[in-house]
Amino acid sequence: MGFKRTEANKLLVACHRRCCVCHRYCGIKIELHHIQPNEDGGDDSIENAIPLCFECHAEVQLYNDAHPRGRKFHPDELQDHKGQWLRICEESPGALLMPQRPYDVGPIQALIDELEFNAEISKLTDDDTIGALFLVTQFERSISEGLFSLLPDQVRRPISATYATLMRANMYLTKMATMPWGGSGSAWHQAYAFAMKAINRSQTEIPEAYEALLAHLGHKKEDADGIKGDGKKPPRLMPGVG
Ligand SMILES: [Zn+2]
Repeated sequence: MGFKRTEANKLLVACHRRCCVCHRYCGIKIELHHIQPNEDGGDDSIENAIPLCFECHAEVQLYNDAHPRGRKFHPDELQDHKGQWLRICEESPGALLMPQRPYDVGPIQALIDELEFNAEISKLTDDDTIGALFLVTQFERSISEGLFSLLPDQVRRPISATYATLMRANMYLTKMATMPWGGSGSAWHQAYAFAMKAINRSQTEIPEAYEALLAHLGHKKEDADGIKGDGKKPPRLMPGVG
């Protein structure tokens, strides 16, 4: 199942690997979305594919009908976005030369990157490496930009739980940094014990949150569809996961 590799290639070239809705350049961070989902009778013909960045893909796919906010994307509208962008690429290629903001990473991609970084931090538990704080800025950004509320519960829950743990770890790590070192029974040692507990917990929670987010973006599905299509097993998304 999935779009034919040769046709997918042609479409990616035609759109210049730019998202058909927001027009940003995506590089490998692009998805081919089924305009009419398979479960609603959509097929795997290339006419039913629209290239989307992670952010737009998330908005199209993760719209939460239980908590409707804004206006959801409908298949016929997506078809028009695709047609409009491919027309611009073909007829007005000058639009492609316009400067782009180089740091224009959307909140979903940034959250994925932040979780990957935090997975690395969670491994720093030796006496000489412990102390690096977890990053939480992209999580806060996803809330302040209204993205978080668009995610369905099964994605939101593991992410919230993970960040609660990371914030707790940060609090104890910060406490440790401001206290004089102390042995067993001291306030420092207690902060250390709580920090370790939170960090250990984060080692399983971060991959769960990461996988939940990727699964709902359909990344794994794209891999299986063979968009990377070299016949090899898709690379593991994160060490220790998958
Ligand atoms: Zn986009």
